[in-house]
Amino acid sequence: EWYPIDELIHDVIGHMQGVLQDRVVSVQIPDDLPPVPLDYLQIDQVITNLLENAVRYTPPDSPLEVSAESNDHEIKVSIADHGPGIPPYDLERIFDKFYRVSGARRRATSIMGTGLGLAVCRGLIEAHGGRIWAENRPGGGAIFQFTLPLEHIEGHIHE
Ligand code: ATP
Ligand code: MG
Repeated sequence: EWYPIDELIHDVIGHMQGVLQDRVVSVQIPDDLPPVPLDYLQIDQVITNLLENAVRYTPPDSPLEVSAESNDHEIKVSIADHGPGIPPYDLERIFDKFYRVSGARRRATSIMGTGLGLAVCRGLIEAHGGRIWAENRPGGGAIFQFTLPLEHIEGHIHE
C-alpha cells in the first residue's frame, strides 16, 4: 500500500507514549513528501525498534530527533539521539543477530535485550529494497537512517 511516511511516524510515536514517557521527540518532516510503497506493520516495527533502542541506550533527559526527506527515487528516515554513540568497530556488527555492544559502555546503560531488534530492522528494510545503517554524530550520539525506494519493487511488497 502507498502510505504517507509522516502519518506512519506520528502513529508510531503515538502508540509508543508508554515507552517514550517524558522524552522530548522532535519530528521534522516536510509536507511535500510523496507517499511510499510499504508494508505498514513492517515499517512501524522498524521505527518502533529504533525508537526503543534510542530510549534504552541514551540518558532519560536527552531528546530524540526524527526526520525524513526524499529525492527522486527514495525517501530517507533518520532517528538521532544524544547518547553514548556506538564504538566504530561495532557500527556494522550491531545489525547481526544477537550482537550487542560489550563492555563498560553497555553495562552503564543496558537493560535486558536479545540483540535481535536491528537484525529484524535490516531484514524488513531490505525486503522493501531499502538500506539501513548507523553512524555516530559529530557532536555525540548515534543516528540510524533507512531508505525506502519510491518505485514499487515487484515481489517485495505485499498488499
Ligand atoms: P532487542 O532489540 O532484541 O531487545 P538489543 O536492543 O540489544 O535487543 P538491537 O536492537 O539489535 O538489540 O541492538 C544491538 C546493540 O546495538 C544494542 O545492544 C546496543 O549495544 C547497540 N545500540 C542500538 N541502538 C543504540 C543507540 N541508539 N545508542 C547506542 N547503542 C545502541
Ligand atoms: Mg533493540
